[in-house]
Amino acid sequence: MSHEGPRTPEEEFVRGLKRILQGLQAEHASLRAEPSEGGGDRSAEEDRRSAETLRRIRGFNLKPREVRDYLDQFVISQEEAKKVLAVAVCDHFNRIRRCMEDPELREQEYTKQNILLMGPTGVGKTYLMRCIARLIGVPFVKADATKFSETGYVGYDVEDLVRDLVKMAGGNVELAQYGIIYLDEVDKIASQPTAGGVRDVSGRGVQVNLLKLMEETEVNLYSQTDLVGQMQALMEMQRTGSFRKRTINTRYILFIVSGAFDGLVDIVRRRVESAPIGFTAERPARERTATDYLRMAQAQDFIRFGFEPEFIGRLPVRIACDPLSERDLEAILLHSRGSILEQYREDFRGYGIELDVTREAVEEIARRAVGEKTGARGLLTVLERIFRDFKYELPSTSVGSFEVTRETVEDPRSTLKELIMRHADSQHDVLRSDINRFLERFNRTHGLDLRFDDSAVEALVEESLGSGRTIRALCEDKFRDYQYGMKLVATKTGNRTFVVTAEAVRNPEGELSRWVMENYPRAGGAVKGPGSAGG
Ligand code: ADP
Repeated sequence: MSHEGPRTPEEEFVRGLKRILQGLQAEHASLRAEPSEGGGDRSAEEDRRSAETLRRIRGFNLKPREVRDYLDQFVISQEEAKKVLAVAVCDHFNRIRRCMEDPELREQEYTKQNILLMGPTGVGKTYLMRCIARLIGVPFVKADATKFSETGYVGYDVEDLVRDLVKMAGGNVELAQYGIIYLDEVDKIASQPTAGGVRDVSGRGVQVNLLKLMEETEVNLYSQTDLVGQMQALMEMQRTGSFRKRTINTRYILFIVSGAFDGLVDIVRRRVESAPIGFTAERPARERTATDYLRMAQAQDFIRFGFEPEFIGRLPVRIACDPLSERDLEAILLHSRGSILEQYREDFRGYGIELDVTREAVEEIARRAVGEKTGARGLLTVLERIFRDFKYELPSTSVGSFEVTRETVEDPRSTLKELIMRHADSQHDVLRSDINRFLERFNRTHGLDLRFDDSAVEALVEESLGSGRTIRALCEDKFRDYQYGMKLVATKTGNRTFVVTAEAVRNPEGELSRWVMENYPRAGGAVKGPGSAGG
């Protein structure tokens, strides 16, 4: 292993690469004899991709109001966030477009519109940015800042975020250059000691590393530890005779950092409330909320919170998102495009079941979701609890539509039971068609003609309802050896039609051996065709 000699891991790595290179050189020599892939074609393909990207960015012509309108379809509430983000994003992409048109502009000093999003979990911070990335068509990656501050965590550094962006862009570096990186839980990399003890000091280091990225730097496409990537680069060089661009510039990558920033609220509150009389703004008409304080946060508060001045300085756009009220959660269920309720509707539709939700049910779901204290994620929890059994049971029933009422939300199990009872009659039809499906499958597979008479069908339906087992499972269990006996009899009698009775449902093995015995009488009696009797 790595301890066998005095070599350092780096030396080992280089030696490994040399060996690979030698192998590649040998392979290259043999490749030379074959027709070349043609460097010309490769760069033409690259040109095409770059042109597509450039066209997209160069053609950026959205107005802040249009971005806001788009966000309105998906994201409920967060009015201020939508406006500020819309402006920041339009400024950012306009700037990029104009720098492309005018290289001189590129040389001018410019503060990138990196964004700090604050607010509780599940209120749409990520969702806003995902929607924006989708609207513009740029790649988007999200990671947790805590990933980088874990002590001893190796193999993933902040630059990997940029490399992930390239992956998200399908390897298209041009496109990745205009992507969006979203870093959550950034409040966890603040470096001050907390009341509970000493905070992980690596937080400061992470901030410093991020700083470089947020500003402008060249990131190597292949990390030091990415052996596969290094090899790909070498192979590429071998094939084409030259290295493709192996770095990505972060100048136009938009960084969004976010977090709950609970601890910051107290810092701002203390500052605001201890300000001498006359310096404070006029007394607010109502009690200030945590969001109000986050909106009042200044650079000094962030520094006290544990951010490096340079770090907070690179985040000029600061937005505090509101917690979602019960009304907001109702609106998400009712009006948000592609909401979680929509997804459930689609899931049920997949089984041919239509789902309706009453107004009272929506209110009750929202009320319960607020209690979860996880923002819109609470809806997910509540809906999952309601629909869990429905999703399991309904696809095997005759229920074609159902209405979710307040009672359903309060007691999903009982309402489901009732619903199934109400459909008991038509449930028989469903089970009958399940029986036919089994027979079709059986006969197709074995080239036989198995039939069930009325008494057999009734017996199967009853057993299925009584035991809770599906028709498919019951039939496959009971008649799993029937093809052998049937084929035996068929060979003897030429008859391939067999009719099963209730007796066979109750005692499948006994009935099967009776068929065989009757047709293979030990005393050499007459051969009987079980099916010919019609029952
Ligand atoms: P966070 O604020 O923690 O980043 P997310 O944006 O990830 O929360 O929200 C989780 C999910 O909840 C989203 O994918 C979305 O489906 C839903 N959601 C959250 N907030 C809203 C909102 N304001 N409007 C509509 N849906 C929302």
